[in-house]
Amino acid sequence: MPIRRGILCERCRRVYFIPPSGKSARIHFDRVQGEFRLHCDPPCNGVVQFHRAALKPYSIANESRERGYADIGQCQVILRR
Ligand SMILES: [Zn+2]
Repeated sequence: MPIRRGILCERCRRVYFIPPSGKSARIHFDRVQGEFRLHCDPPCNGVVQFHRAALKPYSIANESRERGYADIGQCQVILRR
């Protein structure tokens, strides 16, 4: 299964993944605040501010990788030991 770093939107329990290019239509770096900002899709429309350290590695399905996100129940966080 592919592994991607992702950030969870607590509001709708959806995890958005960072593509290998590092570019995402939904995630932007705010230079003023010095942190990243995720804009969740409708109907949630949540905004999540986070630092790079908040990204966690997830084991995900191929279709989730193509979509760029998955519900929290459809991916598995990989815990570091
Ligand atoms: Zn959301």
